Amino acid sequence: MRPKKRLFIGILGLVLLLFFLIGGLVWYTSTVGLSNINYILPYLVGIIFLVFVGIVGIGIVAIVIALCFPAPRLYFKRLIRLAIEFLYPAALRIGSWFGIPKERIEASFIEVNNQLLLSQKIELQNNNLLILAPHCLQKADCPYKITVNIANCHRCGRCPINNLIKLSEKYKVSLAVVTGGTLARKIIKELKPKLVIAIACERDLTSGIQDMYPLPVLGILNERPYGPCFNTEVNLEKVESALKHFLERGNG
Ligand code: SF4
Repeated sequence: MRPKKRLFIGILGLVLLLFFLIGGLVWYTSTVGLSNINYILPYLVGIIFLVFVGIVGIGIVAIVIALCFPAPRLYFKRLIRLAIEFLYPAALRIGSWFGIPKERIEASFIEVNNQLLLSQKIELQNNNLLILAPHCLQKADCPYKITVNIANCHRCGRCPINNLIKLSEKYKVSLAVVTGGTLARKIIKELKPKLVIAIACERDLTSGIQDMYPLPVLGILNERPYGPCFNTEVNLEKVESALKHFLERGNG
């Protein structure tokens, strides 16, 4: 498992351990009060707590197994999602206590999400796949409104949009350039893809992956040589290798 993924899994494990310790302490101290109401109550509350911790714990173990031994089918999908959804906000908080930048945790989350997706068998045809690119990939001084219609790009090649269009034509998949989450959601509603390859920064990808669930979203981080949201770049090889991965499986 690469270090980037280990970070997220490590923090999830730590959150679960803290949750178990604090929850156990609260349960233990409240048993006196609860047993005054009914002697069965402390046991009942304790069992519910243990079942919940157990379910989330199995989710984390399932993530680790899926990451270490990629298999064509991913088991315990719901438990994995529950573990991530439930523990992610706490993971960010605990990461900040240890001085781990939020961006690093988000990047690690994206890696884990991608690996889990790549280990699944997703049935796809070309028209089920959408590439969502951020507006900041377009040259800032380009006058053409490509968010309205990607065909407005004059293909001058000064920014990565031209090559993304070439990729979308080569693999016959949809491509859209969006200014934010609202437009992204609108396009997804219209096109109804079965899988999205999204290009964005750590923050937008993390929130996009979570907002779009259960729609699978593979995240590819953009590169920001001039700072955030300005003339950004993307590694096209990563986009093409994701396209090949999903389309070869779907068509094979
Ligand atoms: S390739 Fe050229 S025309 Fe197309 S969006 Fe980029 S700068 Fe504008």
